[in-house]
Amino acid sequence: MVDVTTTSSDLYPVTRVADAREATAAAGIDALLLTPGPDLRYLTGYDALPLERLTCLVVPAEGEAFMVVPRLELPAAEHSPASRLGLEFVPWDETDDPYSLVARRIGPAATVGLADRMWAMQSLRFRAVMPGIEQVLAGSVLREMRMRKSPAEVAALREAGAAIDVVHALVPGLLKAGRTEREVGKDIAEAILAAGHATVDFVIVGSGPNGASPHHELSDRVIQAGEPVVVDIGGQMPSGYCSDSTRTYSVGEPPADFAAYYEVLRQAQDAACAAVRPGVSCESVDAAARQIIEDAGYGDRFIHRTGHGIGLETHEEPYIVSGNTEPLAPGFAFSVEPGIYLAGRHGARIEDILVCTETGGERLNNQPRDLVVV
Ligand code: ZN
Ligand code: ZN
Ligand code: ZN
Repeated sequence: MVDVTTTSSDLYPVTRVADAREATAAAGIDALLLTPGPDLRYLTGYDALPLERLTCLVVPAEGEAFMVVPRLELPAAEHSPASRLGLEFVPWDETDDPYSLVARRIGPAATVGLADRMWAMQSLRFRAVMPGIEQVLAGSVLREMRMRKSPAEVAALREAGAAIDVVHALVPGLLKAGRTEREVGKDIAEAILAAGHATVDFVIVGSGPNGASPHHELSDRVIQAGEPVVVDIGGQMPSGYCSDSTRTYSVGEPPADFAAYYEVLRQAQDAACAAVRPGVSCESVDAAARQIIEDAGYGDRFIHRTGHGIGLETHEEPYIVSGNTEPLAPGFAFSVEPGIYLAGRHGARIEDILVCTETGGERLNNQPRDLVVV
């Protein structure tokens, strides 16, 4: 009675909890407390619902991991990929205090690692039942594991990249002068699901001046002829792995100054992708893009970092930003997405997901990067 496919054993190997326990012990942390979210899913494959009732995987540095679950969630947990792990499920009833239950089972401890995305209401309840125990982020232990994608994770990201490429291939047919951003965005959201994603995470259609706001989403603005449009879209696949890709289109011939800086941007994005190889620092990938944009006089128009890691979360470590000296290693997956934004007028961004291989960077998005005039 277990819904487990072979892909889930490749993607979510049963050895991860043991690996995490070793890393927890090595870090001098007594236990990890992982509530529903990417850390829990990474270790177990269980895509548990984040709820006010406590579900928590406890990974002690010594001894066996166990999962505290509300009794009404027990069937879901037992039918999830977590059931492959031989974990003890510890159900609690509506009138029990699951926080005290966890504290009692952990016993004397100095430090616990909380899931990075644990809700504050839960972390404060843990603090109340474990007074004097230091709380740190579980990410301090799990980041090294999560940044290095396994071949199965790379395959899942490649599948996500191919799915969002299918959507970008449809975008030129959806962009027309006279349509609103929202109308185009609704069609894109449907296409994201039709391409195999389980959820639509974001749809940015930034036409004309809205393209100069990097996280503009959708508005009722009508797209005009001669306008550049920034389209940044992504979703989560049934595997749990995410897509994220940006292309900038022009509805009819763009203004001359736009065409000039778009070409600078394209070269900057290429240079940053070409800089990717093991041992190169995250900040030097950022610098490879930024240098070209600065040399062309648009340095102050590139107002964000060059990229972010991606996996079970759209934004995770490593961040491709000045000051991050972390060296790239095979399996690191991240975006390369420089942008140039002219406030009040228009903007452009080009974004691909890359995986660092033994020899360089593999792009997981492969739609054309030359300006597409529709
Ligand atoms: Zn973003
Ligand atoms: Zn994006
Ligand atoms: Zn991104």
